[in-house]
Amino acid sequence: MSADRAHFAALDAADPLAPLRDAFSLREGLIYLDGNSLGPPCRPAREALRATVEEEWGGELIGAWNTRDWIGLPRRVGDRIGRLLGAAPGQTLVCDSTSVNLFKTLAAALALRPGRGTILSTADNFPTDLYLAQGLSAWLGDARCRLRVVEPAAVVDAVDDDAAVVLLSHVDFRTGALLDLPALTAAVQARGALALWDLAHSAGVVPLALDEAGVDLAVGCGYKYLNGGPGAPAFLYVAERHQAAARQPLIGWMGHARPFAFEPAWAPAPGVDAFQTGTPVVLAQRALEGALSLLDGVDLAVLRAKAVALTEAFVAEVEASPLLADFRLVSPRDPAARGAQLSFAHPEAYALVQALIEQDVVGDFREPDLLRFGFAPLYLRHVDVHDAVRRLERVVAEGLHRSERHRVRRRVT
Ligand SMILES: *Cc1c(COP(=O)(O)O)cnc(C)c1O
Repeated sequence: MSADRAHFAALDAADPLAPLRDAFSLREGLIYLDGNSLGPPCRPAREALRATVEEEWGGELIGAWNTRDWIGLPRRVGDRIGRLLGAAPGQTLVCDSTSVNLFKTLAAALALRPGRGTILSTADNFPTDLYLAQGLSAWLGDARCRLRVVEPAAVVDAVDDDAAVVLLSHVDFRTGALLDLPALTAAVQARGALALWDLAHSAGVVPLALDEAGVDLAVGCGYKYLNGGPGAPAFLYVAERHQAAARQPLIGWMGHARPFAFEPAWAPAPGVDAFQTGTPVVLAQRALEGALSLLDGVDLAVLRAKAVALTEAFVAEVEASPLLADFRLVSPRDPAARGAQLSFAHPEAYALVQALIEQDVVGDFREPDLLRFGFAPLYLRHVDVHDAVRRLERVVAEGLHRSERHRVRRRVT
């Protein structure tokens, strides 16, 4: 049976994270279940942007590279993300996009394993991950680098003497399935390959311990659960033990040991800095830095517990509703085996998502037939779960999704 709204309101009243919602600009009535794709704007991000434009850029012009340490942003913001990753300072860098960082880290991994040429990944990995691996293979030639994809359950057995690096997404973007990062990292390394993790859907919402797990390399997004804004810069992680030997191909002046010596020959900056390429996008870095300040005092175990509670309640509400009997949960039923998102398969998924958006419940559609909902615990309330399911029932009961206008596919789903 579905729980009544007062039950959810009581959970909100007892929620230690509840005050954080006030920092986000979420319109009254809106239930935003898409923070896994694009986090909403928050006050500290806006304030950082305003201060950067008016005081730093406006007040100090080029001097701000030194006086406001713009030049230090990639490392400074990187270390702030590092705390969320369980990474000691000096291993996380904020730069470029996740896609570009995949290219850099994949290439670095291959160079660290000179006798091996296979990039091993999963068939269901996020396409950009597979594309960047294909691109690297095409660039280096098949003899030096090949992509091989297998089913997730077959990854460990597929790590043979030729596997240089295993590229895995911690949380599956379609189903929300969460892989066992420590166990897979150890198993991959026991067979002589490096572990490269894509943390796009876990950074800032699933507790991580990259150092403890001995992860080799990682990448992830700044605009999903980290709320850095559309197109926010991404991050990359290079374990300290690899930094002296690791080389990435996009060497640029910002990764040089002495960028302002303007020497014709490249020399690597020490540590993770050699993974920088060009000038940091200061406005975007500062917005991300502002947004990250909200996570500073937050215990990730508390965040995780709330995400679990929200997803568990959503599943229970959907399954208790006779109107929603043909929504099939494709996410793992065990909350320990999934991230902070839920996906349901339904033959009319696209139109249902569009009709729900009209009811002010924003989720997204993923091919071929998935409704996908993200449960960002920083700003969602327990009552939002209750209300979202009631609005979904209304869409189904009244057939609101059957309207002709919900059949037109837009460019971004
Ligand atoms: C969102 C996402 C990306 C996005 O990469 P961009 O370069 O930011 O476009 C990459 N990998 C995974 C697993 C993602 O979920």
